[in-house]
Amino acid sequence: MLPLVALVGRPNVGKSTLFNALTRTRDALVHDEPGVTRDRHYGVCRLDPDRPFALVDTGGIAGENVHLEAEGLAGPTAKQSRAAAAEADLVLFVVDGREGASALDDEILRWLRKIDKPTFLVINKTDGLDARAAEADFSRYGFTDVHAISSSHRHGIDELVDEVFARLPETGTAEQLDADPERIRVTFVGRPNVGKSTLVNRILGEERMIASDVAGTTRDSIEVDLERDGRKYRLVDTAGIRRKSKVDEAVETFSIIKTLQSIEHTQVSVVMIDASEGVTDQDASVLGAVLDSGRALVVAVNKWDGLTDYQREQTEALLSRKLAFVPWAEAVRISAKHGSGLRELFAAIHRAHRSANHKFSTAEVTKAVEIAYETNPPPVVRGHAPKMRFAHPGGENPPTIIIHGNRLRTLPESYKRYLENFFRKRFKLVGTPIRFLFREGD
Ligand code: GDP
Ligand code: GDP
Repeated sequence: MLPLVALVGRPNVGKSTLFNALTRTRDALVHDEPGVTRDRHYGVCRLDPDRPFALVDTGGIAGENVHLEAEGLAGPTAKQSRAAAAEADLVLFVVDGREGASALDDEILRWLRKIDKPTFLVINKTDGLDARAAEADFSRYGFTDVHAISSSHRHGIDELVDEVFARLPETGTAEQLDADPERIRVTFVGRPNVGKSTLVNRILGEERMIASDVAGTTRDSIEVDLERDGRKYRLVDTAGIRRKSKVDEAVETFSIIKTLQSIEHTQVSVVMIDASEGVTDQDASVLGAVLDSGRALVVAVNKWDGLTDYQREQTEALLSRKLAFVPWAEAVRISAKHGSGLRELFAAIHRAHRSANHKFSTAEVTKAVEIAYETNPPPVVRGHAPKMRFAHPGGENPPTIIIHGNRLRTLPESYKRYLENFFRKRFKLVGTPIRFLFREGD
């Protein structure tokens, strides 16, 4: 499981600015295209790709921070904050270095002392300020871990992240989880009620009694081993973390974090969508999270049984529009209830897994880049053409290609997409992103 860090603080201290600074990916696998939605309150920090951690901005969970202001720590927003902070491995208590300590900060501090979590005091907005004076203002809070930063200027962010790593529990990397290379780890994710439990139960061919059938209980995701058509799988069902009856907002929050955490450590994510409801914002946000994780993806369009022919036609059109940002992901129509489409689903899972683990040789990568370049050279920018000198493979999961050259920074997004499509066709890769890393010089 990914460790979890919670941002806590009164409104306007810069939590969401800090959240964005921490969750922005450097080697983005996803081009900024319409259709990719990201949740602004939950994300994964990948500033060190080898040590990702989940991040929750507790301030904005209920939408308006104003609640916290008006209700002190007693309102629904506070309830969510409490739930998230209670789950966190580390809390970042964010304060405003310009305004100094306020009564609301004091109140939050009292509460933080009660929950007794490892906490860093993060003094934000110290750009153009004497950081020591700002620290002195908060010294009565008695924190030993104090970090003066500027989120908007990205000052002190890398140092803060280093200190965060030092405090987080060690978790296994995704690669360590691949201990049994024969067993494919498949995680079913999607918003509540799309049919995750029904599908997993159908695959297992039995109605298992699950603890979460009791209203209001929570549990971690279920893992089951399965052999099917001679292949071994470990299925992870993230459903049931929250139950239909008595949906507690605080618990719901928790399930989104759990989804982020389980996507990270899987090999193939199956994102389930309810055909009768189309692709909702929440679905797109789950898809965005899977894209960020770089893992293989299959879309399962469930409840296909409940649609008339006319509705199916309409749904097909909608899907091709709404899933245009993941043209490489296979979308399989299924009915978890009737068990139809499962053979196709597993075939797609298998293809995605095989593609994600594709091992390029240096020779084939070099050759492919050469041909791609010659067929369609990149556009000249300000009198200079970007030059690709040589290329080599950079690993799997997702398949990665490292290209060395000059002025590669000026490669337009459209050219990167061209390269990706070229590789996808040439090596018949489906269901996985392909990562290109560009290095200046030799
Ligand atoms: P939140 O309510 O805690 O999420 O705060 P926001 O992230 O929305 O920031 C509130 C305001 O503070 C915005 O106008 C930001 O531009 C500004 N802000 C955030 N971080 C910094 C910073 O490091 N320095 C300065 N000068 N302003 C900042
Ligand atoms: P989860 O919250 O994602 O685990 O969703 P569930 O598996 O609990 O399913 C939610 C509801 O959708 C239940 O009432 C299921 O019976 C129903 N459902 C699940 N799969 C299908 C399906 O393929 N077709 C139809 N018509 N209903 C389904």
